[in-house]
Amino acid sequence: MRDGERLAQLEARDSGRLLNDAKAQITFVAEWFNYYAGLADKYTGETISTDQKDMLVYTEPVPVGVVGVIVPWNAPLLLMAWKVAPALAAGCTIVVKPSDYTPTTALAFGELLSESGLPKGAYNVVTGFGPAVGQAITAHPGVNKVAFTGSTATGISVGKSAMTNLTRVTLELGGKSAQIVFEDADIEAAINGIMNGIFIGTGQTCIAGSRLLVHESLHDSLVSELVARARKIRIGSPVDSMTQMGPVVNKIQHDKVLDRIETAKLEGATVECGGGVPPGLEGWFVEPTILTGVRPEMEVAQEEVFGPVLAVMKFRTEDEAIALANNTKYGLAAGVWSQNVHRVHRVARSLRAGTVWINTYRAYSPAAPFGGFGLSGLGRENGIEAMRAYCETKTVWVELAGSTRDPFSIR
Ligand code: NAD
Repeated sequence: MRDGERLAQLEARDSGRLLNDAKAQITFVAEWFNYYAGLADKYTGETISTDQKDMLVYTEPVPVGVVGVIVPWNAPLLLMAWKVAPALAAGCTIVVKPSDYTPTTALAFGELLSESGLPKGAYNVVTGFGPAVGQAITAHPGVNKVAFTGSTATGISVGKSAMTNLTRVTLELGGKSAQIVFEDADIEAAINGIMNGIFIGTGQTCIAGSRLLVHESLHDSLVSELVARARKIRIGSPVDSMTQMGPVVNKIQHDKVLDRIETAKLEGATVECGGGVPPGLEGWFVEPTILTGVRPEMEVAQEEVFGPVLAVMKFRTEDEAIALANNTKYGLAAGVWSQNVHRVHRVARSLRAGTVWINTYRAYSPAAPFGGFGLSGLGRENGIEAMRAYCETKTVWVELAGSTRDPFSIR
């Protein structure tokens, strides 16, 4: 890919994300554009059958207009692509506001779009701080839709601001996703999924599997295996190809993660590994941390950490596991690990989460809708559903008989 390396370098240096991970995300960006380019001429209206034989009724998707795209720092280019690709396919124009910590890839991507022949003014970037520049977009009467990814607190204020003009809004927000490991799980597969779910991106992913719910019969052995693997994670520079976990994005995030760990300890959690700053490294590093003895009411079981911190809880029965998993204001994702085909579908049906991964975690496709229940968001990105978010539906009625009607009758 011609510009993949440059974009990945920019992304890694801006956000501290692993270069390897950034490279993989750039390939996703290409896939997303490819998918929506293919969908652009297939997303059409329909002819509606009514009981009125002298009428032709059809619908047309109409581009919603100007879309404000506001994205966070954790996966800047990919999360922007999730919005820009369907918005362009729908025929909208775009004003992007990247995070003030990671503005470079949105700008570099603009150069590529110009080179590709996108009409001038179709894609615009304004950089700056959220409360000033972001707010100017969300409250602007000329903006017809806001597509936002970020924290739940900011998302709610974005939603309120957009509503002053009835601006359409989709929100992809925070999460506290549960990974549930039943006694009949393939343990090796589950361990891989759990490690991937919480330690990739240094835990700074909205779908981080930050709560591990494990059957009591497996608890001790699973925790000790996870601890052994967490201790072996190679922490270091994000641009070193041997590194498995880089730093968190900045000091604010570093302080927040350490503060959440301290609160968990004060509330009675046991630190099985990590819990602090790895020795001998300069930068905003946090050790991979596993906490046991977590109770559902603790902060670490309820609030997003957005760092490499796994909160472990035990359960006895399937009902208890479901109740624990659903005991959160969020509802972004969940992982279910079991080899019982009846159970996995039964549990998936009971979970209040926008995505349920069964015997896998963090699988994505441009074709598969993504979004959250509860305080994890509003609306869906990806798939055909995303096109709906960038279109208004126009219904057209055509009189076919050529006759006039009684003006005082509606039939
Ligand atoms: P944030 O909410 O602080 O900022 C997100 C974006 O909003 C930034 O560009 C910021 O400048 C802007 N912003 C801030 N205040 C604003 C305002 N008043 N009006 C308009 N825009 C404003 O989030 P963050 O710290 O950058 O990112 C981390 C959060 O993002 C986490 O909570 C994470 O869960 C969430 N996230 C969600 C998803 C998802 O798809 N659900 C994906 C990635 C990240």
